[in-house]
Amino acid sequence: MHRTIAILGGMSPESTVTYYELITRGYTERFGDYGYPEILIHSVNFQKYVDWQHQGRWDLAAEAMADALNRLRRAGADFGLIATNTMHIVFDQVQAAVPMPLLHIVDVTAEAIRAAGLGRVALLGTVFTMQGEFYRGRLEKAGLQVLTPDPAGRNTVNTIIYDELCRGVVREESRAELLEIIAKLESQGAEGAILGCTELPLLVRPQHCCLPLFDTTALHARKALEYALNGVNS
Ligand code: GLU
Repeated sequence: MHRTIAILGGMSPESTVTYYELITRGYTERFGDYGYPEILIHSVNFQKYVDWQHQGRWDLAAEAMADALNRLRRAGADFGLIATNTMHIVFDQVQAAVPMPLLHIVDVTAEAIRAAGLGRVALLGTVFTMQGEFYRGRLEKAGLQVLTPDPAGRNTVNTIIYDELCRGVVREESRAELLEIIAKLESQGAEGAILGCTELPLLVRPQHCCLPLFDTTALHARKALEYALNGVNS
């Protein structure tokens, strides 16, 4: 029997859809039938979280996230995903309040970067992700060096995420801006770039960029499928 997956989604819906597709299609591509693991999705009211982010009320966010995941657990989920990089800022508090394993997006990403043999990577995401210790610190603990854009670049990436990608808007101009930011980080020594926001892969794909890209949505979704099929040692 497969484990049932809980997805805490809606942050934003644009990437929650991708998780769902990647897990179900990933299964069918591999095994040929439609026997994918069962998936329970809780799509939140994202505005509440955006407000909490701006008010610095991470405590309220953590409480609501734990509550949502516990509802999915009671509905039959065996393990969970927080389908946003940014909200991993409260991962530890949420995990402490939810009695089922949650797969950490940074651990999955660090594992892929190390498997690719890289040591120094660019990190792109929301300002919370690019500036916070929760993300950089965890990558550094895994032995990686992390480069982030300058303040103007961080602001550009953050605006593209919240004002465009989270609303389903994909613009050529924004892609060009993002690629320019990545090129600058490459010239500073980045060997690869983490798409550290679950919506960024909607804008930049490997064919647009010569640096190896680490798509956190795809890596997280793939790990969830593995875990659902095989458990811890997947
Ligand atoms: N999905 C985004 C991320 O991966 C940003 C939205 C948010 O959770 O604030 O960080």
